[in-house]
Amino acid sequence: MPMTSPFRIGSGYDVHRLAGGLELWLCGVKVPHSKGAVAHSDGDVAIHALCDALLGAANLRDIGYHFPDANDEYKGMDSKILLRRTMCMVREKGYELGNADVTLCLQRPKVKDLIPAMQQRLAQAMQTDAENISIKATTTETLGFVGREEGVAAYAVALLLKTDRSSLPNQPRKRG
Ligand code: MG
Repeated sequence: MPMTSPFRIGSGYDVHRLAGGLELWLCGVKVPHSKGAVAHSDGDVAIHALCDALLGAANLRDIGYHFPDANDEYKGMDSKILLRRTMCMVREKGYELGNADVTLCLQRPKVKDLIPAMQQRLAQAMQTDAENISIKATTTETLGFVGREEGVAAYAVALLLKTDRSSLPNQPRKRG
């Protein structure tokens, strides 16, 4: 029987272009700003990176595979719905979230005061405790496309724990 770890780590990364007159959604919160994300869905890069981290940890392909942007069903969609569906797939495969860590990369605006609300929104969508979700934000010191405010990026990592005890390796078996 192949060995599989009861702990599974995944990483995700996403970028969206910024343009005037659009809404900016980050970690499920609408961020007041003069620019927003150009996207098929609501363009929440942080949630998209987090979905990819979860899917990666569960070895379930990626967000574009499950929610293709050619599909009108996802047009303008609230990314929290994608996150909720992703968690359903992860749980169906027998995993539960350990913790997730998200890094937002944007030059402006400052989002530090919104972080507790972002943690709450993500935790609610994922049906987990806000303590399991960490969100950080950084600028890129005005360098690159983030620094020039042409786009916003996000990185995420997630740790999953196997919940189906019977499939854990090296479990002592009762003898009859
Ligand atoms: Mg995206």
